[in-house]
Amino acid sequence: MADTDTIVVIGGGIAGVSCTETLSTLCKNESITLVTASPLIKAVTNFKQISRRLEEFDVVENPSSELQEAHRNVTVLQAKVVSIDPLKREIVTSTGESVPYTKLCICTGGSPKLIMKDDPNVIGIRDTESVSQFQAKLGGSRRVIIVGNGGIATELAYEIEDCEVVWAIKDKSISSAFVDAGTAQFFLPHLSGDKKVQEGPMKRVKYTVKPSPASSSESGAKGGALGPDWSLGIPMNGQVQRSRHVRVEYECEEIWRTKNTDWPVYALLTNDKLYGCDFIVSATGVVPNGNEFVTQNLDLKLAMDGGVIVNDCMKTNIDHIYAAGDVCSASWDWAPHWLQMRLWSQARQMGCYAAQCIKADLNDEAISLDFCFELFAHVTKFFGYKVILLGKFNGQGLDDEYDILLRMTKGVEYIKVILKDGRMQGAILIGETDLEETFENLILNQLDLSRYGEDLLDPGIDIDDYFD
Ligand code: FAD
Repeated sequence: MADTDTIVVIGGGIAGVSCTETLSTLCKNESITLVTASPLIKAVTNFKQISRRLEEFDVVENPSSELQEAHRNVTVLQAKVVSIDPLKREIVTSTGESVPYTKLCICTGGSPKLIMKDDPNVIGIRDTESVSQFQAKLGGSRRVIIVGNGGIATELAYEIEDCEVVWAIKDKSISSAFVDAGTAQFFLPHLSGDKKVQEGPMKRVKYTVKPSPASSSESGAKGGALGPDWSLGIPMNGQVQRSRHVRVEYECEEIWRTKNTDWPVYALLTNDKLYGCDFIVSATGVVPNGNEFVTQNLDLKLAMDGGVIVNDCMKTNIDHIYAAGDVCSASWDWAPHWLQMRLWSQARQMGCYAAQCIKADLNDEAISLDFCFELFAHVTKFFGYKVILLGKFNGQGLDDEYDILLRMTKGVEYIKVILKDGRMQGAILIGETDLEETFENLILNQLDLSRYGEDLLDPGIDIDDYFD
């Protein structure tokens, strides 16, 4: 049971665990209590910096005892937090237990936006449990409909085999949460036929699901979100042996479920096409769990997207309460080449930084925003290709006033650079381009590149040498 000098962190996802571990190291004399609804908690292992801003790490799910053993001043409580009292400075769990705090960090993540709730034929993918449910359903299926156009939908469209896939998206191009229509063209041929053979060792964040007997979360609360490479090593096979083919239905705003007899579920798309299928996967994004604790007593300010507003010290509007990860909305003045996306990498960075802010606050010290918030840098994998996104990779916030440089070798690589007034603002690198470090530097140092023109992407020029 915690004493009055306890720092409490809510949430056993990557933000909460990173926050707890960092606090444990920084605040050796404080006791830290991690309260989480999920029986397993996330752990980052094999962390490597692959460039100044891009991170590579593996992620595992561990029993909470491992965190307690590794960190003497940490206690993990498996419980769902039902309320926070900012006056008494305590949290209350669903079992009625109250835990006092000196500082509190909310890291409760988000919940999938489901197109139809409580319908057994519509499933969302968020955590280990939902992946098992999805796999079980897929095993007996002939056709599935994927709804959504973000990272999860893109991975599913690529990974599902032996089952017909209809991918219903509201946009004019696939994977639009990450890439523009031009870049999406590069991926289109990979919607059919054999999957890309993985060459060489994998150089990106890897996610491992360790099965555990204790797999269900407390009081129906969801486990932590899955993360990068969640789909690797998870067979996604349907019932019919057939070559891969994904049929994309563009610009369908919504889907209406309708009844018939041949299939368990029918979906009428807003382009008037009707598809029968075995089930529908709703991969339409995540809503931050920002309002979970909002009451008259706890008037936490939320952003338009539902996230808890935090300032550049990860503080909410309520004294002594911080937030980090998917649940929060970064509401400081962003650096020109950073943006918030609810990603694994940002959950880790925010969790660690929130711990530093809490420590600074306890010691009455000033703190400046961590350098990881200077540049957006993300590595992922789509259709078997390494994908690196840097800065304003889609010209976000540049009001269409920018130039684009492109280099593409079909099936091999795709490089897109965003330039404004001759200075690099962002880039998309697909394939093994090895340009990430140089481009990171060019975005950060804002060198005037006008005189290089298109030579910047000339494959005959060693661009590293140019800018060394
Ligand atoms: P979560 O991981 O959601 O953790 C929240 C924690 O809070 C959980 O442990 C939950 O049990 C606990 N909790 C919630 N409410 C309560 C309560 N009331 N009381 C106690 N505990 C509570 N990101 C990438 O960067 N790259 C990818 O390729 C990628 N792929 C993804 C694929 C999938 C299928 C999904 C679902 C997400 C993916 N993401 C990816 C996003 C990434 O996983 C999330 O951004 C990240 O995990 C968020 O971490 P978090 O700690 O903020 O929240």
